[in-house]
Amino acid sequence: MSDSASHTGGLEHGAERNAAPRELQPALCRERRLEVLRHTALLDTPAEEAFDRLARLATRVIGVPVGLVTLVAEDRQFFKSCVGLPPPWCDVRQTPLTHSFCMHVVATGQPLLIEDARQHPVLRENLAIDQLGVVAYAGVPLTASEGEVIGTFCVIDTRPRAWTDGDLDILVALAISVMTEIELRASRALEFQARAAETAHAESEAARERLALLAELSAVLAEGFELQAVLARAVRLVVPLVAEGCMVELLDRDGRLRRVAVFHQDAHEEERLRSLPESRVLLEPEPRGGPPVAGHMRVTGPEGSSLRLPLSIHGRVLGAVVFTSSPSRHPGETELALARDVARRMAMTVENARLYEEANEAIQLRDRFLSIASHELRTPLTALRLQAQSLLRGAHQARPLGPGEVSSKARVISRQVERLGHLVDELLDISRIKEGYLSFQLERVDLADVVREVVTRFHEDMSRSGSMLVLAGVDAPAVGQWNRLRLEQVVINLLTNAIKYGKGRPIRVELRSDADTVWLTVSDEGIGIAPRDHVRIFERFERAVSEQHYGGFGLGLWIVREIVQRLGGSICVCSTLGAGSVFTVELPRHPERSPVPLLH
Ligand code: ADP
Repeated sequence: MSDSASHTGGLEHGAERNAAPRELQPALCRERRLEVLRHTALLDTPAEEAFDRLARLATRVIGVPVGLVTLVAEDRQFFKSCVGLPPPWCDVRQTPLTHSFCMHVVATGQPLLIEDARQHPVLRENLAIDQLGVVAYAGVPLTASEGEVIGTFCVIDTRPRAWTDGDLDILVALAISVMTEIELRASRALEFQARAAETAHAESEAARERLALLAELSAVLAEGFELQAVLARAVRLVVPLVAEGCMVELLDRDGRLRRVAVFHQDAHEEERLRSLPESRVLLEPEPRGGPPVAGHMRVTGPEGSSLRLPLSIHGRVLGAVVFTSSPSRHPGETELALARDVARRMAMTVENARLYEEANEAIQLRDRFLSIASHELRTPLTALRLQAQSLLRGAHQARPLGPGEVSSKARVISRQVERLGHLVDELLDISRIKEGYLSFQLERVDLADVVREVVTRFHEDMSRSGSMLVLAGVDAPAVGQWNRLRLEQVVINLLTNAIKYGKGRPIRVELRSDADTVWLTVSDEGIGIAPRDHVRIFERFERAVSEQHYGGFGLGLWIVREIVQRLGGSICVCSTLGAGSVFTVELPRHPERSPVPLLH
């Protein structure tokens, strides 16, 4: 190895045992060099074929057992490739600098060719001789484009060896390939990092936008109880972040879905959405904490996709919100989560508005009821007072009242007292029904007998009103498991109405029955009821007549319906305004479910 000496420049005596010799440290530990080394991101990474191939090539071409790609850090050397290195080093893939020849190449930036390390004045102390079996060593620097030497490409022989210029040329050429590979990776890693940073930035920006949207939406939704106006602003707000179009449909009291707010960023598309027939599909409420796709419906067509989410709260569906997107848009899980958040907030607003409306209605109802109630109670009280005063006056007059006059006044008094009692009973029934306490025990009752008996009580009222009563089907018994007092109440209420609203015209009470069912019909030829009121009049306090013309709480039919329903039956009305009404009660002889047990 004639010129090996020329490649040993800078190699001095005095290397320390466990670290880089002190004189090499400034070169090895230079911050810039270490930074370039870190940027390769290759330290402690697994072996890779791209580097192994080059190391293997070197061993074959030069004819040596070991070829290494070594990266030299400040306190160790790491073998990115270590072809032919004996165990355990081929597994550990690194050594301290006490075992390093390569650190000298890195420190000097020059190739190092050692024919027989055991004879070398400095390297003969190196632990690599004993432990790694290094006898001959030829290494060239791996120089990064910044000029920093980060490691070596080297070959090792376990016997003395005279290196040739050809060997050195091969090593230099392959080292360039190794370095190209390293830098390619570094730039790819940088690119990847940049892309990752960009994505992270975009994601955080999107998350910020979503949060801002939800915050703004909450503010809009909390802005008042004008539900329609609030929702109109809300559907505008969610476009375009959640979708390109948005509409809200709410269930009305009749259980129909009504479109209350529509917006699309394209005016034509908005027109199309508005003209769509109102949906009939009602979705199940979203299960709390359920799987992310449950409860919604996604429809994809040539016009794009539409995502329909229920507006539900506490398991009750209040309506739906529909998000529409163009075909080019592909809403993912994030959009779905956002849409769900929007739907939840909208549902809350709808529920609040409903509660507010209900509370208002309840207040109005209470006020109306109080004024009707005081008026209703005052009428019989006034009549009572007048009769009592006239009796008193009679007692003090020179000529006392005759028995005929007294008994007529007593009849009026007893009628008014009965009326008062009836009104008080109705009032009591309100709270009983509301609390679910309208209860009774089932007993064997003959409805024909009940009708006959009630009718006799009404003789006087009938003759006063001038109505003629026709009874049909009441001679044969109509027996069932019912409650006598409550059935009396049903017949009384229907008959009272027929007399009150029947204007002195004929009234017909009829019973029909088969093996399982009995039907009671009360018909009159009075003022009748407009079709729009046929359902409403069975509700609490609902009346279809003016208070000035007819007294009443609007409770009678409601109480009848409650009793009949609790007996497993039903009631309906067939009526024409101005021509009369027919109320039909259908009662199963044996109610399937027994009524609520007696509580009071
Ligand atoms: P009230 O008679 O005390 O008002 P109801 O609950 O008995 O209360 O009846 C509710 C409403 O139904 C009445 O106000 C009236 O408008 C209508 N109605 C009930 N029965 C008849 C009938 N036979 N003919 C016409 N209208 C009736």
